[in-house]
This record gives sequence, C-alpha cells and structure tokens, in this order.
Amino acid sequence: DFELSDIEMKALDSLNRPDGGWGLPNPHEILDCNKMTEKSLAPHVIAKEIAPLGEGAMSLDDYKQLYAQSIADPSAFWSAEAQKRLDWFTPFSQGLAGDFHAGDVTWFAGGKLNVCYNAVDRHVLNGNGDQVAMVFEGDEPTDIRKITYLELQRKVSQIANALKMSGVRKGDVVTVYLPMIPELAMTMLACARIGALHSVVFAGFSAEALAQRISAAASKFLITADQGRRGGKSIPLKDIANAAREKLDCEELLEKVLVFERFYHPESELPYERMPKDVRMDELVAEQRPYCPPETMDSEDGLFLLYTSGSTGKPKGLMHTSGGYALYAAFTTQNTFDLREGDLFACVADCGWITGHTYVVYGPLLNGSTTFLFESTPVYPDPGRYWDMVQRHKITQFYTAPTAIRLLMRYGDEYPTKYDTSTVRVLGSVGEPINPEAFRWYFEVVGKSKCTVVDTYWQTETGGHVVTNFPGITPMKPGSCTLPSYGIATAVLDPLAGTPVTEPDEKGHYEGVLAISKPWPGMARTCINAHQRYLKTYLHVYKGYYFTGDSVILDQDGYHWIIGRVDDVLNVSGHRIGTAEVESALVAHGAVAQAAVVGQPHEIKGQSIAAFVMLVEGQSESEALVNELKNLVRKEIGGFASPDMILVTPSLPMTRSGKIMRRILRKIVCHEVDSLGDTSTLADPSIVDVLIEKVASFN
Ligand code: ATP
Ligand code: MG
Repeated sequence: DFELSDIEMKALDSLNRPDGGWGLPNPHEILDCNKMTEKSLAPHVIAKEIAPLGEGAMSLDDYKQLYAQSIADPSAFWSAEAQKRLDWFTPFSQGLAGDFHAGDVTWFAGGKLNVCYNAVDRHVLNGNGDQVAMVFEGDEPTDIRKITYLELQRKVSQIANALKMSGVRKGDVVTVYLPMIPELAMTMLACARIGALHSVVFAGFSAEALAQRISAAASKFLITADQGRRGGKSIPLKDIANAAREKLDCEELLEKVLVFERFYHPESELPYERMPKDVRMDELVAEQRPYCPPETMDSEDGLFLLYTSGSTGKPKGLMHTSGGYALYAAFTTQNTFDLREGDLFACVADCGWITGHTYVVYGPLLNGSTTFLFESTPVYPDPGRYWDMVQRHKITQFYTAPTAIRLLMRYGDEYPTKYDTSTVRVLGSVGEPINPEAFRWYFEVVGKSKCTVVDTYWQTETGGHVVTNFPGITPMKPGSCTLPSYGIATAVLDPLAGTPVTEPDEKGHYEGVLAISKPWPGMARTCINAHQRYLKTYLHVYKGYYFTGDSVILDQDGYHWIIGRVDDVLNVSGHRIGTAEVESALVAHGAVAQAAVVGQPHEIKGQSIAAFVMLVEGQSESEALVNELKNLVRKEIGGFASPDMILVTPSLPMTRSGKIMRRILRKIVCHEVDSLGDTSTLADPSIVDVLIEKVASFN
C-alpha cells in the first residue's frame, strides 16, 4: 500500500512509452498457468546464487511438510512459535480458542506481554543496544538519521511519558497524523508501551478523511506535525489537522493535540497557527525521563486500529491485538524475506498503511533487525532514488508495490543499471497483482536475475502475508502470489454455494472466491465499535470461513492467481471476466497508459462493459482509437468482452495508495451519482465530476 503523490501521478500521466506499451503479454497468457509453468523460474537457480541452501535451509518438500503440519494443528504450531519468538511476562495457558462461527477467536489467552518491550527493550537487554534499529532517509537524500536500539528505547520512553503527562491512558485511542519521520514509528511504539491503541492516518489524507477517523474511533488525542515533506515540497499537516478539528464532533472529542515541529528550536516562533489544546511536543518530550516502564498487556488487548485503504467502500477500522499480531509480524517478516543477522531491511511503504505497520515497524524490530524508513517518493530527485539508496545503505531486502515498479519501468533500464544493487537478496511486491512484465523487470533489471521476487498477497485484515513464495524454497511464477504461508488454510469457494470448488475446469484450474478456513494469529479481531459489521463483512459471508473479498484461480500446481475483487468481476452473457484481464488488453495498446473497466446493467447481456482509459502524453482521443481498442479486446479475449462504452478521461479515480476505485466508476455508469459512497480516500476528488459529465454526454 503505497501512496502515489501528485508528482508521481503526473509523472505517470506524462510518461511516453517508447516500447509502445507496458509490454503486457496477452492477458490470457497471464491466466494460462500451463504456459507460466514453463516460463517459471526454477528456485534452485535463485537458491544457488543468492540463498545458499545451508544448514536449516528448506526444500519445497520441506515446506509442504511443515505447511501440512501447521494447518493440521494451528494451535500447536503457533504456540511453539509464540514461545520461541516473543518474551512473555506471564506465559499463556492456551493457543487458539474460539472460532469463525462465533467470531470470538483469541490467541494465547492468559499470556501477558508488551509489544514495545519485545520490539525494543529485549534487544538492549540482550546486549544489542548499540545496534542500529532504524535508518531514516528523509525527503532530501542528505537527510539521514541512524538510531540505535538504546537510543530508540530512550526516545520511545520519553514520548511515552509525554503521552502519559498529556492524559493518555491504557485503552485510549491515539490518532497519529504524522509524516514518515522516525517520530511516527517512535510514537506507535510509545503507544504500545503504555497500552494505548494507535490509529495512524496516512499524512496524505484530507481533513475530511482525518476527521472521520478521529470521530469513528472516538479518539481523544491527536498527534501531528507542523509539516511533512515530499518531493521537495512541504505539506501543511497542522493546517489540515486544524481544519479536521472543525468537522464532525472532533473538537468535542479531542482533549489534546500534540504537535511535533520539524525544525524545532525552543526559541523559534511557532511555525503554525496555534489552537486551544495544542501542545508543543518536542518541548514536552525533552523534559521527560528517558525510561518508561512498559505496561503489562493481555495477549488479546488491542495494539492498534487501522482503517483499510477504502478501495471498495467505507474504510473499516480494524483492530489488531498484541500477542497474535506481534507473533505474526515477526514470523512472516523473517520467513518471507529470509531475514538474517546483519540485514538492512527496507520496506518503502508509509506507516499510514498496514504494510508500514507490519514491515517497517513491528516485523523488523521484533526480529532485532535494522529497518529503513523512507519519507520521499521513488522519483525524487530522480527515478534512480530507490536504487541509489540500495547502493548507499547496502540494503538487503527491498519491498515496494507494483504501482511503483510500473512507474519506474517506464523510465527504462538506465536507472537501476547505474547502481550497485548486489547487496539485495529479496525483492518484494504488495498491494495489487503484479503483472508478469513488471515482475520480470523487477527480477531481471533490478535484481540482475539473482534475487528472489516475493509476491506477497495479504490485507489490512490479515495483519501479515497470507499467500506468498519463500526465497530459495518456492518456484516463482510471475503474476502468481504462489502458495499459502504457514498456518494459512486457503480455500477456493463457489461464490453461490459457499462450499469449496471440487471440480476443476477444462484447464485443470479451480476458480472462485478466496477464503481461509482456520484462524491465524495475525487476523484482525473486530471492527472498532462495529463487531456486527466485522462479522457481516468477513465471517458470516461464507459459514466457517474468513472471506477475503478477492477472486482467485488455483492452478494445477496449487498456485494462487488473484484476478480481482469479487465485486469487480464482470458477468457478460454468462461469461465471467476479471477486470484485470480486460484492463490488461486495453493497456497493451500503445496509446493507453491506464485503464479501468466496470460492469453496466444490460437488458440482454446482463452486464455490458464500460471502459475508462487514460492516454499517454501526446495521444489524443479519436473514433479510430476507440475502434482499435474494441478490436484489441475482441482479439485478445473475445467478442463478448468488447466494451460497449470506451471513454477517454484525463485521469482515473484512485486511492491515495494508487489503487483504482472501480466502485465509483460503477456508480457513475449506473447513474447512481447520489450514492457514490465515501470519496474521502480519493487522491483527486475533482475527477468525479469530470467523469459524470463524460458519461452523461456519451448517452
Ligand atoms: P478496502 O478494503 O477498504 O476496499 P483495500 O482492500 O484496497 O481497501 P488493503 O487491505 O490495503 O485495502 O488491500 C488489500 C487488497 O489488496 C487485497 O484484498 C487484494 O485485493 C489486493 N492485494 C494485496 N496484495 C496483493 C497481491 N500480492 N496480489 C494481488 N492482490 C493483492
Ligand atoms: Mg480490502
């Protein structure tokens, strides 16, 4: 979940594609798993090069065996892991209790721990206080801070004491609206230390979106900063926070607003407009004792709230717990990324998303590793930024999103080739299906064919990876997130019957909705103040299963291919068509930069396809182009999939994390513009009116 800044959006818009397209293969090829098997990259090639199968290394058969064991008795499997990976103040008396039917799952009942203690203190106590815990690189490449575990313990303690001074108590919800600076991670850890739940709101969100999240969680505390920096520009966070306070019941709710100052100096003028309840955080923190005893928390006590990205509807405020989430974060970080001593782990996501929670903060620190925090964008000051950082810091794991990879691909091979990226062993992808061409570019050009690319499928709700390959173990198939992680019992369900699909289609594939049949420690336990909604959305859709909301194809090797959101799958004259398929065909045309398709009610066909396309710079709309696009889809997929309506638009409605919000397009084509739903997570809300206009004039 990686936000695209306005600069990146523009860069994406204006890019010329000399190769005449994103180089997407025939979309059927993406789904044709037989072909993909032939092309798949053998794991031993990779294993030999970069992940020597030394002591303790596993084969695919070992994985299969351990996996089978893990899902045969998840309670035993995770209990052993929880004893090994976490320090408990009081040992737990039970592994798993409860089930999906009742919606009352708990892990490690009776166990007491503190997640901040596990992520910070115990490494200091183990004699690793001098090890660097965090490497921060700000918007400017010269703005670098390195923080050791001992320094982290002190600073987090001071912030924790400052929070206590301000009235924050165990169980309170603290809304965190901070730029991607070390204070953001430290504030999260400080909340965990005193047992308050952090609710991080991505600092690119509007006042409206921030207000909604403060109000929905009845949060009494807001922590913000005077400004953020991105791509050389400053973002007036405090002004936005001030505006949010005037909305809904925020001002009534808030007791204190704590403000970090980017360039704090005790004598300097306040760099923002002061409001009642404001506290200068740097001043308060400086006066605090650098030790704060960690609160004893129950394994099932809430660790944090986080709202989903909002791609499909009103964002849901999910609650993750202390013991289960921490274990799952630690476990998946180590296994998926083959984390070892001395590694520098770089996940370039913002802490505003779950990816930042699990793989910037909790996962790496719980493992006692060194984590990298990145404030800027992949194209600032130029599109070599990522690879320059890899070279300068000797990064060993690098984790980003397909949207960023596709963006950088457009600038050619020159940038990644210029830098020494040989320290990297694992490259990760998350957020959307990665199309095979982008995968190959990432593998061959960035990874010089020597790194494993892990395609990690998961959600805000799952806490950590649930389907992914493992370095040196799982053969990769570009475009597939491969096999389930340990303890994750995936199931492909018939969407109508709600039972597992048992009959393969003529290709030997199983197609249906992706569900999980057994609880795992990292799963969110509830939606805050809305448990019924949680049950209705996840656990009561298909009896006995956790429902992901995604459609999937399982190939003959058991590999998972995510084909899109269930709500987005089209049904035209009885043909089920994935949005990804049609969009890939459209984007294969040299003139098209981005495409989004949705279904429109149709008297005869049930649904017809409406397509929205954004052109590359220099291309213009014409009847001839529209016909070419229709023909292209006809040729690539079939006549039935050819869109009835193709509209050329200046841009598409996207979330701040760079995902297309098809539900808004669906409403627009169905003329239900009065019920667009929540649009607060849109990167550019003004596009909605443009599209309504376009659709109206088409008819
Ligand atoms: P909302 O739930 O509010 O609509 P969202 O689903 O976009 O927002 P996230 O939890 O950030 O919020 O994203 C999870 C979703 O992203 C998954 O359900 C899936 O659709 C998609 N996704 C994530 N990783 C992958 C991946 N590796 N391959 C395919 N799809 C992925
Ligand atoms: Mg979702």
